[in-house]
Amino acid sequence: MITRDLLLDILKNIAAVIKDNRQFLTDLDAAIGDGDHGINMNKGFKAVEEKLDTVRDKDCGTILKTTAMTLISTVGGASGPLYGTAFLKAAMVVNGKMEIDNEDIVKMFDEGIQGIIMRGKAKRGEKTMLDALIPAYEELMNSLKDGSTIAEAFNKACKAAYDGVEYTKTIRATKGRASYLGDRSIGHQDPGATSSYLIIKTVADTLNR
Ligand code: ADP
Ligand code: MG
Ligand code: MG
Repeated sequence: MITRDLLLDILKNIAAVIKDNRQFLTDLDAAIGDGDHGINMNKGFKAVEEKLDTVRDKDCGTILKTTAMTLISTVGGASGPLYGTAFLKAAMVVNGKMEIDNEDIVKMFDEGIQGIIMRGKAKRGEKTMLDALIPAYEELMNSLKDGSTIAEAFNKACKAAYDGVEYTKTIRATKGRASYLGDRSIGHQDPGATSSYLIIKTVADTLNR
């Protein structure tokens, strides 16, 4: 179960982790893209953090919808609309709810991924954020089915996301700016997969505190 206060903590912690990794994400994007992923994500989550105060007493759906709209309007580049759509789809699952149960979490994760696929038309194996998110989702779902607590399930999902980031080093990008490099994108980890891993890790770390 994730209470509204825990959700607010998670979002605040994501903003802090993205800020700390801003240069790292930008360096990864400089190697195979245009070197702005850390800048884009930090701008977006800094704006989200500033908005949180205005929705502190609202339901989880409103908090996440505000997060989504803020990301869409402040993050330049491909990642803004993609993460924004993911948060928007997740928000709709918990519309009006003051807390999020395990069933909601699985559904939010699934809806979020479907939103990214709808918007970006990518699939697994194209060296994008989906290569971290889809394995993490599958691991989360299976762990919960096997009786893990939500905190344990996110730890396992985090490990799967990490492996997904490692996998992006071995493949060629066929979506986004990195696809312009063709085979020269091989050997580099995808910045978006890396930010997705960091987001999942932050959820795991916050739940395990
Ligand atoms: P831009 O490439 O427009 O500068 P960012 O640098 O912020 O945007 O984000 C790049 C990341 O976005 C990539 O590393 C990749 O993970 C993700 N991405 C790009 N295009 C797609 C897509 N069509 N579907 C899913 N993810 C994508
Ligand atoms: Mg970029
Ligand atoms: Mg850009």
